[in-house]
Order: sequence, then C-alpha cells, then structure tokens
Amino acid sequence: MTAPLIDPFQRAISYLRVSVTDRCDFRCVYCMSENMTFLPKKELLTLEELDRMCSTFIRLGVEKLRITGGEPLVRKGIMTFFQSMTRHLESGALSELTLTTNGSQLERFADDLFAAGVRRVNISLDTLDEQKFAEITRWGRLPQVIRGIDAAQRAGLRVKINTVALKGFNEDELFTLVEWCKSRDMDLTFIEVMPMGDIGNEDRLGQYWKLNDLRAELARHYTLTELSERSGGPARYVRLEETGQKIGFITPLTHNFCESCNRVRLTCTGELYMCLGQEDMADLRAPLRNNPASDAPLEDSIRAAISRKPKGHDFDYSRQTVDGRVTRHMSHTGG
Ligand code: SAM
Ligand code: SF4
Repeated sequence: MTAPLIDPFQRAISYLRVSVTDRCDFRCVYCMSENMTFLPKKELLTLEELDRMCSTFIRLGVEKLRITGGEPLVRKGIMTFFQSMTRHLESGALSELTLTTNGSQLERFADDLFAAGVRRVNISLDTLDEQKFAEITRWGRLPQVIRGIDAAQRAGLRVKINTVALKGFNEDELFTLVEWCKSRDMDLTFIEVMPMGDIGNEDRLGQYWKLNDLRAELARHYTLTELSERSGGPARYVRLEETGQKIGFITPLTHNFCESCNRVRLTCTGELYMCLGQEDMADLRAPLRNNPASDAPLEDSIRAAISRKPKGHDFDYSRQTVDGRVTRHMSHTGG
C-alpha cells in the first residue's frame, strides 16, 4: 500500500486545492488589477495533465479536492475534468469534489456539476447591491450571479457564500447578508483581506475589516455560540442561536490556523505551494511532463515537497504595514 503524505509536523495531507486557470471574467479590486497579464496557454497543465496530477495525489491519500482559480468555470473544457474525477468519487478514494466560483457561469454548468458528483459549492459574493457589485468586481454583474445561485440550488447543490469583509464597503450590509443567506438556506463565511499580489492603487490596509470587529457587531444582534468544528483550514464557526445559522470566519491575520493545516495548493502551471502564505513551492510539471510513462518521479517530487511544508505563514498587519506579504495573486495560487 502507498504510504500517506505526512509532513514534518505530523500533519496528514488529505486536501488538495487546484487552481485550473489564472484567468477570470471578473476583476475584483482586492484580487486583481484591472489590466492583468495572464499566462500563455502552453504554460498551463492540460486537462489530461490535471487529471494525472490529481489522480496521483488521490493515490497518495488526498480525499478532498477543491477546484478553484481564477474562475474555474471559464477554463475551456473544464466539465470534462470534473467528469473524469467522478471515477474517484465512485471508487470511494475521493470523499468530496467541490469548487469555489464567482457564480457567473453556474447557470450553464450547475446541472453538469451535480451529475459529476459535486454536492457543495462555495460562491463568492461581497454585496447584494447591484451598483456596489459592479464596483467591487469591476466586470461582474449581480443578476447573472443570482441566476447562477438559483441554478445551483435547483440542481441540488448545497451553497456556501464567501464574503470578503471590506471596511467601508459592506459593513452596512452585514445583517442584510446574514438574513439573505438564512432566507435561502445557505451557509455564510466571512474572509479577511489577505496581502496577496499587486492590485494597483487599491489601499489594502484601508480595506482591512477585522473579523473580530465584525463578530462583535454580529454579537450585538444575535447570541453567538462557538462551534468546535474544524475543517483543517482557517475557518472557525459560530451558530446564531436566534436563526440556527452557522457563520464561518476565515481569519488568517488575527488567528493562526496553521497547526491543523491539512492542505496544499496546486497552481494551473503545476507549482505546488505547501503554504498559502509562503513563497516556497515545488515544480511538479517537469516530473509529470518529462515522464509520460511513469508517475514514480512525480510521486517522489510530491513527497519531497511535503517534507518541506512549513509550520505556518507570517502574515502580519499589526505594525500597520503589510508584513509577510506574498507577491503572487490569490488567483494564481487559488483562493
Ligand atoms: N473566482 C473564484 C471566486 O471568486 O470564488 C475562485 C477564486 S478566488 C481567488 C477565491 C476566493 O478568494 C474568493 O472568495 C475571493 O473573494 C477570495 N480572495 C481573492 N483575493 C483575496 C484577498 N486578497 N484576500 C482575501 N480573499 C481574497
Ligand atoms: Fe476573479 Fe475570484 Fe479573483 Fe474575483 S476573487 S477577480 S472572481 S478570481
């Protein structure tokens, strides 16, 4: 039997996030600059290479696969990839196949995703105001995303909304968003802005709305019960007693979630990042492409990379400068 992936801190790596493209049909201000230069197509792993890569990780013990980007659903032919992953769900090797999306293409793809075995989807949405939505995403349009959410729920997908907490932008919509998610039976998770990539003129410290403050605001209206549930990731959860809703907080800056980290991230060019907040990575494309007939060199490279997984990240806003920032965009590593 193949030995599972265990890092130097005895954390088992069972969760792989895969960015299948760096491209996107939106230009969210905290994520991208307006004029992005995207990678040439030949740099990207083909859909067949993505399959081989993911299948190797699954053989080494990865049980949960999250597809992200850029916007995963703008990658040409991506449904073929989802369909090819269905075999790992059917064999029981994979316990979950899921994705994070801006929702723009869900109207088209929700039924196919469900048919491929996807049962849950994270949809990013920061505001319910059409004008503000166009402002924050630059190129996105709210009605299209709402139609995507409708389609996802109709198809039977469980929806979780991810909202980036942005000072002076969606502070005033906190309760509207909570109530809207409740009315549609969707989970809701707030994310703190992270210092990733050059985003042009946007002021990152100005955007930073501490989730501790957001949480205190929630506690003025609701009774919050801390839940012990952990996903091996950065999210912490509370239940709102009045509504029964579960609300998540992703706070990489105010809390350290690294001790239970069970995940690694693969970019669309085959770079493996062992930590979202560190620059170290391993090139897995070369061992994959140079050895079409054997996965052994790829397996060796994966194991070598996992043996370098660092203890944690170094993001820090506390000195009022963005310390520990990483130069790549979130759309490169995959959110
Ligand atoms: N395009 C898809 C989407 O928007 O859901 C998937 C990729 S996106 C990079 C994944 C998540 O990262 C989104 O929820 C987005 O809001 C979040 N994100 C992007 N840039 C961020 C930043 N600088 N800090 C915190 N979250 C960020
Ligand atoms: Fe695109 Fe997602 Fe980044 Fe927005 S957050 S620009 S939707 S990749």
